[in-house]
Amino acid sequence: MAKVYNFSSGPAVLPHSVLAEAQSELLDWHGSGMSVMEMSHRGKEFMEIIHDAEHDLRRLMAIPENYRVLFLQGGASQQFSMVPLNLLGEKKSVDVVNTGHWSKLAIKEAKHYAKVNVVASSEDRNFSYVPAEDTWQCDPNAAYLHYTSNETIGGLQFPFVPTPPEGVPLVCDMSSEFLSHEIDVNRFGLIYAGAQKNIGPSGLTVVIVREDLLDRALRITPTMLNYRVHADADSMYNTPATFPIYIAGLVLKWIEEQGGIKGIAARNEEKAGLLYHTIDSSGGFYSSHIETPFRSKMNVTFRLRDESLNDSFVSEAKKNGLVQLKGHRVVGGMRASIYNAMPIEGVKSLVHFMQDFARQHG
Ligand SMILES: *Cc1c(COP(=O)(O)O)cnc(C)c1O
Repeated sequence: MAKVYNFSSGPAVLPHSVLAEAQSELLDWHGSGMSVMEMSHRGKEFMEIIHDAEHDLRRLMAIPENYRVLFLQGGASQQFSMVPLNLLGEKKSVDVVNTGHWSKLAIKEAKHYAKVNVVASSEDRNFSYVPAEDTWQCDPNAAYLHYTSNETIGGLQFPFVPTPPEGVPLVCDMSSEFLSHEIDVNRFGLIYAGAQKNIGPSGLTVVIVREDLLDRALRITPTMLNYRVHADADSMYNTPATFPIYIAGLVLKWIEEQGGIKGIAARNEEKAGLLYHTIDSSGGFYSSHIETPFRSKMNVTFRLRDESLNDSFVSEAKKNGLVQLKGHRVVGGMRASIYNAMPIEGVKSLVHFMQDFARQHG
């Protein structure tokens, strides 16, 4: 089997052991005689799977009792609608921070329902930094404050958790850094994450929401987009994404084996450090446009000084078993997504390739 190191931004690499385990029980889950794909979502086998997944997630993230965990569909993109529909309540406006592509899409969608105040933006310098929090123009009457903790396309990550005005819930699109480092869930009103970056396959979106925020939905909110409906039905109002939930459950157990989120975070630091060091010590052959404190540990974006070498960089990398390194079309350049499941060997292999390539073409 030709195994490659896959630097895709999502759907993305999964732990090899998780895939092997899923393969070994694909036809017969725990002696049930059925594949997880074939099971009733209300049967006792699947109930055990979803219950374990929630339990493991709660333990890993130390999610407090007064938060609900929802396993939804529609991607993080659907949360761009669900968040304003459900949290606006009697309020008229929402506060948002604009740090790039995904922030902008969240803003665009919220505008269908609310007045959207952009309290801070880094668009003036091509989304290369996070504006200092003391410059944000937050409204104490906003329904919530929304930010994107890791901009997957730009490669920009918040090095801090914002503090909204008293009483304003903090909402975070954590899709591409979910479970990658420790956070205090108490700081948030709501966290959401599409699974295909750091949790499992696409088709699943995890929402962690504080219970007191479940009853603020606008009357026009469709049933399927209502958090209260999904919370009351324990994510079983309709058929959930059963197979992705099962795989996510295996990934959560794998994280536990890696020393939990603390263990994962230390390795993520090391992996990102290796790549940024390679970029910074290349004598300008490679460069990152993100200011140092805000460089993402999940999506490492960089450019070649001579952009005419882009195609050969990508194709030579592929010959070396390093795939999906081309940057997003919006940003250009290169992007190495090094989520939790990317082994350090993959990053070292990329580092060696980058150094060799620079020597040959520098
Ligand atoms: C990938 C991504 C999204 C969109 O996710 P979908 O599941 O495709 O809707 C939104 N926000 C961030 C930060 C992402 O990385």
